[in-house]
Amino acid sequence: MPDKIPKHELPPGSRTYKLSDPCQATVISNEPLHLKDSPDDLMHTVIDIRGTDYRYIEGQSAGVLVPGTREDGKPNKLRLYSIASARRGDDGKFETLSLCTKRVHEPHWDNADEMFRGLASNHICDLKPGDRIILTGPVGKHFALPADESMNLILMGVGTGVAPFRSFLKHIYEEHAGWSGQIRLFYGVKTQNELMYMNEANDDLEQFEAHANFRAYVARSRQDKQADGSKVYVQHLLRDNAADVWELIKDGHFSMYICGLKGMEAGIQEAMETMASENGRDWNAMRDEFKAQGKWNVEVY
Ligand SMILES: Cc1cc2nc3c(=O)[nH]c(=O)nc-3n(C[C@H](O)[C@H](O)[C@H](O)COP(=O)(O)OP(=O)(O)OC[C@H]3O[C@@H](n4cnc5c(N)ncnc54)[C@H](O)[C@@H]3O)c2cc1C
Repeated sequence: MPDKIPKHELPPGSRTYKLSDPCQATVISNEPLHLKDSPDDLMHTVIDIRGTDYRYIEGQSAGVLVPGTREDGKPNKLRLYSIASARRGDDGKFETLSLCTKRVHEPHWDNADEMFRGLASNHICDLKPGDRIILTGPVGKHFALPADESMNLILMGVGTGVAPFRSFLKHIYEEHAGWSGQIRLFYGVKTQNELMYMNEANDDLEQFEAHANFRAYVARSRQDKQADGSKVYVQHLLRDNAADVWELIKDGHFSMYICGLKGMEAGIQEAMETMASENGRDWNAMRDEFKAQGKWNVEVY
């Protein structure tokens, strides 16, 4: 079995809040990440964790509990959200935690005349400054950055799957500034209106393009077209930038991350199979080895 890559350690003395004893925190701000022409509601929520023992590292998720009960009288179920801020928080003082949430509000699967409203996402998107929010966690240890800062990072995200990558990149470029490996972000959205952290609503990630070791490749599936007129998804970005990606992964000195919608893995698998076979390698064997080493990290929902 190949050696596992060491990952960033959890903060010393960090406490995990359980459902039976959750963390009561307060909303500082809740701002849109979408442009006004978007049909989607995408919100960046900054939460005050002062006075609590809530500490986290990049790549972890927070549980959000909506107060109240379900129709059957049982308490509402917990939902998980990737933490979108780096460990110091957006204020840089270890006092906040940020989330990036898509409101689930769409025609009901069983009756298109009715709208379906997701419980927790609507709760979060409707929060106002000063409102209370109930958190559990943080949870998740596997989606962490490698401890070796010379490793290349390939980040692949769709929609709110960009949340942990904002946290990674903020840590790398704003909190630490020692990363020597190359970093590539492959990011899929519907249109420029939903290009979170890379549009006029919020450009936190766009700013990192000034760093020589960072490049972002973006697929706006309802806007960008391939040469044959068909839509562009993350897998097409991988295909079109295969030489760049292969150079970064071929020696095994990398860590890859996939985050976002469940369906996105299949296209990535196909693109990686093609890339490996064009270089005389078997992707499935490579991927199994990378998985065992902790270099292939997937968080889809
Ligand atoms: C590790 C992890 C990290 C996550 N990170 C994020 C994140 O950063 N940002 C984010 O926005 N989300 C994230 N999610 C998803 C999040 O946890 C919730 O699942 C999501 O917000 C929907 O929750 P909800 O309570 O609003 O919807 P719910 O009330 O749970 O409703 C959604 C459920 O209802 C059903 N449903 C969905 N659409 C319809 C429809 N149109 N008609 C009928 N039924 C339907 C489906 O079964 C679906 O699971 C993450 C999930 C995981 C597991």
